[in-house]
Amino acid sequence: MPHLDPDELSLLALYDDWVDDDGREHLRVCPACAADYAALRRTVSAVKSSPDPSGLSIPGPQVWAGIHRELGLSASLEQDPLAAAAPEAGQAQPVKGPAAVRRLPLGGPNGAQGAEARSVKGRGRAGRRAAWWQRPGTWMTAAAAAVLVIFGALWVANREPRELAGAELAPVAQHSATGSAKVVQQPDGSRRLEVRLDKDEARGYQEVWLIAPDLSRLVSVGVMNAETGTFDVPAGLDLAEYPIVDVSDEPMDGNPAHSSDSIARGTLSS
Ligand SMILES: [Zn+2]
Repeated sequence: MPHLDPDELSLLALYDDWVDDDGREHLRVCPACAADYAALRRTVSAVKSSPDPSGLSIPGPQVWAGIHRELGLSASLEQDPLAAAAPEAGQAQPVKGPAAVRRLPLGGPNGAQGAEARSVKGRGRAGRRAAWWQRPGTWMTAAAAAVLVIFGALWVANREPRELAGAELAPVAQHSATGSAKVVQQPDGSRRLEVRLDKDEARGYQEVWLIAPDLSRLVSVGVMNAETGTFDVPAGLDLAEYPIVDVSDEPMDGNPAHSSDSIARGTLSS
């Protein structure tokens, strides 16, 4: 099941009544998304509990008159731009908060369409209230939502393992096994080498190495007892200095050095 995208997480965290049954079900079953959701909720409550914007009021026309006079603005700008924002009874407009957030250039390929559908739901539910720019809390909410969407995107991006480099492994000498290797960075920054061969041709056992281009230096990353294996790359090891992935056939002779009998080999490129 794919994880929730950052937009979905943000909207669920921001609006208790956001209609997204699939998303809420996913939060119940996915610890990773639930953890991000919990973090976003903490941010939302922190933002919502800081200054209460409901006490803000629209300044009277004398404020704009003073600004207009001090700045020497032209007569065409004389009318108070906030006069139109004063609430007028009986004139309701759809709430567009979430839709406004949608204009951020974020979100995956499916984000925009799903979001449009959801924001329509949101409008329907919001019903007859003052226009969004007339409600004092809207700007803070929109700003908080924008922050959440951005942080959500970063969190999700950081949570996914990221492929740093890959190599095709070709058979060496009399061998015929082929395969591939890739280096994947984990969310915690550590790197893993994932190796796959189509068969195990070792007479002893397979050992996986990272080797310098001139073959003068090499690092063993571990034993591979099957056709696939995942190995920790030593922290701090510069893969540019050890770009060759090599799988060797090691005899059970207790000698830790490379046997010089390579089964398959390839060079990492990013
Ligand atoms: Zn998930």
